[in-house]
Amino acid sequence: MYNQLRHGQWIEQKAIAVEAKIAPVIKRIERKVDLLQWKVLAAYRDHGVSELHLHSSTGYGYDDLGRETFEKVFASLFGAEMALVRPNIISGTHAITACLHGVLRPGDELIYLTGRPYDTLHQVIGKERDGSGSLADYGIAYKEIPLSPTGQVDWEAFGGAVSERTRLIGIQRSRGYADRPSFTIADIREMVERIRAIRPDLIIFVDNCYGEFVEDMEPTHVGVDLIAGSLIKNPGGGLAKSGGYIAGKAQWVERAASRLVAPGIGVEGGATHGYMRDYYQGLFLAPHVVGEALKGVVFAAAFLEELGFKTTPSWEETRTDIIQQIYLGSPELLIAFCQGIQSASPIDAHILPVPAAMPGYQDEVIMAAGTFVQGASIELSADGPLRPPYIVFMQGGLTYSHVKIGIVQALDHMAGTGHISLEGGHE
Ligand SMILES: *Cc1c(COP(=O)(O)O)cnc(C)c1O
Repeated sequence: MYNQLRHGQWIEQKAIAVEAKIAPVIKRIERKVDLLQWKVLAAYRDHGVSELHLHSSTGYGYDDLGRETFEKVFASLFGAEMALVRPNIISGTHAITACLHGVLRPGDELIYLTGRPYDTLHQVIGKERDGSGSLADYGIAYKEIPLSPTGQVDWEAFGGAVSERTRLIGIQRSRGYADRPSFTIADIREMVERIRAIRPDLIIFVDNCYGEFVEDMEPTHVGVDLIAGSLIKNPGGGLAKSGGYIAGKAQWVERAASRLVAPGIGVEGGATHGYMRDYYQGLFLAPHVVGEALKGVVFAAAFLEELGFKTTPSWEETRTDIIQQIYLGSPELLIAFCQGIQSASPIDAHILPVPAAMPGYQDEVIMAAGTFVQGASIELSADGPLRPPYIVFMQGGLTYSHVKIGIVQALDHMAGTGHISLEGGHE
């Protein structure tokens, strides 16, 4: 494999050294995978999952035993009273939107505790009554509490912001595409305690995207009322072709379902078409696949640190999501990195990604993703906006080998730009 690269000899030696260095972290990930795999198997056994559950319903989708059982398995794994896991939830944004609109009523207020939420939610929240169907359009107020420069929650500002109208508190577990640390389950547990101490009746929602199966607990295990996420990220195990989930206290999941479907139908309807087998098999694989993705980003972080690049999290840090940030420092390296990843993709490896304008972004963005499922970020992908400090966000990888190959090819491309010297580290 290394013989195919221009700088193969040097990269191979370095890769061997990096793998020796990260071995204890890899072992730690594997032990976590064993535990989570055991939990998934226990849940399948306890719910009597059998061949008949793998078949799917059509039409209205009433009395879909496969779906009902799957949602019970999912809820039990997440420590939730109820879960909704559906192909008619089209993405993470859709799942989150159903939660916000399901719980909030005109006159209520939503406060995001963890700063600016993920990009796609800005239009969901909205700014004014403009006919768009946003929260603002329905007369739901919104505030956000910016994080401190070190990425901590500003409790003083939160205490001052809570009002009579405040009903729902939003927390985003993962950094998403923001330059800030992610929040661990321990952090979220502390947030829940502090929010409850201020006002016990506030409903706490967590955007759980990218976090599932990274730690041995989920936000719903530590008192969070409602969570949502995407099945083409962690919990679909790379097999779910689309879908999303909502889990938490039954009354809030039911309200989200009423909004998602219709009052009176809620959780009862929704055909599963041909999805159930992939959902069951994907959830079964999810702990392993998340583990492979984690091993991959640990390798990436360690290798790039070795070359003098700043990374967050660093290779030995505790992780709560599958996202890796690498500060590449120049547009040439960002482009070369993404092109290297693309050239190591199973799909569209022959396509050369270039920076382009994207709706919702101020700067040009470059994206590498050659995935079996469109946009699936549990599969290896890398992207970043063309602005200083030229951070690449990378995540996913169905197998550790694939991520390693992607990184090795990315480094070979980067060396080709003349902006890094593989012998002496980067300038
Ligand atoms: C991916 C993601 C979402 C939802 O994105 P979709 O592309 O709609 O699935 C929301 N929040 C965070 C933090 C995410 O990473």
